[in-house]
Amino acid sequence: MALIVQKYGGTSVGSPERIKNVARRVARWQGQGHQVVVVVSAMSGETNRLIALAKEVQANPEPRELDVMVSTGEQVTIALLTMALVDLGLKARSYTGGQVRILTDSAYTKARIVKIDEDKLRADLSDGYIIVVAGFQGEDEGGNITTLGRGGSDTTGVALAAALKADECQIYTDVDGVYTTDPRIVPEARRLNTITFEEMLEMASLGSKVLQIRSVEFAGKYRVKLRVLSSFEEEGAGTLITFEEDDKMEQATISGIAFNRDEAKITILGVPDRPGIAYQILGPVGDANIDVDMIVQNVGHDGLTDFSFTVHRNDYQKVLGILKPVAAHIKAREVQGGDKIAKVSIVGVGMRSHAGIASTAFRTLAEEGINIQMISTSEIKISVVIDEKYMELAVRVLHKAFGLDQPQ
Ligand code: ASP
Ligand code: MG
Repeated sequence: MALIVQKYGGTSVGSPERIKNVARRVARWQGQGHQVVVVVSAMSGETNRLIALAKEVQANPEPRELDVMVSTGEQVTIALLTMALVDLGLKARSYTGGQVRILTDSAYTKARIVKIDEDKLRADLSDGYIIVVAGFQGEDEGGNITTLGRGGSDTTGVALAAALKADECQIYTDVDGVYTTDPRIVPEARRLNTITFEEMLEMASLGSKVLQIRSVEFAGKYRVKLRVLSSFEEEGAGTLITFEEDDKMEQATISGIAFNRDEAKITILGVPDRPGIAYQILGPVGDANIDVDMIVQNVGHDGLTDFSFTVHRNDYQKVLGILKPVAAHIKAREVQGGDKIAKVSIVGVGMRSHAGIASTAFRTLAEEGINIQMISTSEIKISVVIDEKYMELAVRVLHKAFGLDQPQ
């Protein structure tokens, strides 16, 4: 007998019929002798609808009240799923985040889980109940309702699995696993049987939207065995996120190609090359609470250098505004920028032990005449910034160059 936490996303509970399907799947797992805790999202589109509704009343909705409101989406689905389970003759009970007591900090709309009281859940499980918990929500010390950020139900699932020391956390979604890249761009993309936690973290942070990044961080921290699989297929092992790099020995060096169109690039030309310059430029950006991603500084020339970095596209105009006076103050020549860029990244733990990955990538792009504007690397990732209009081409040729279209 195992203790399994299953999380079903919005499309998986998008209609009464689909909710009944989820109930049948949960029933099968319990019928095999497992204890099951189910976490659900709101029905697909519901969270967006609620946010839009709030904005019709208050352009910038009061965060506390927004959380009171959007958390209702999940409250509806826990009740419906529990009804469907009871209708199948099973013992089932629903809980909101606050009722479990998923304690969070008070950062409305992006709260972090601090602690979970799992005693009640354990007692229910021993009594033979299937437990259905609302994803995406918790409550703070003062009993205020909080939410965990968009996609936060994944994190609820993983956090409950960690608290209950579950044998596995299964994330059911509308895709059947994690792919080598987005199949909408590369039809030959393949489902990965396994991916390491580190790779998944890179893929998630680089814009592969299968899992909320916080849930992956959580799984890594508490070593939760995490599996992504489809709620629309009867069979299929999905993708297992592993910790053992040994599992990867038989596999390709590169696991996937991620991409991201959400960034913009800013370059300050002719910056005096002296200590403290990077701080003078990026300090004010950080003070404005703007995240900087890639940073590149050129080798100095005649006492001058060029300095480039990327930020989220939404912050682009704001950063330009911040930097104009800074550039004048430090006597830099010019501030330039562009928001028609894309970041393409090659991810794989095999990079640690294989040489020549970067040269293969750069040759592949060169053969297509794609100019690389910026490069950054980590132990298991190489990212390039290119013109947005070549993004899909770059993803396709890199996917092929690293043999990702070949069977594992
Ligand atoms: N319903 C929330 C959202 O749409 C949380 C989730 O689905 O994970 O972001
Ligand atoms: Mg999701």
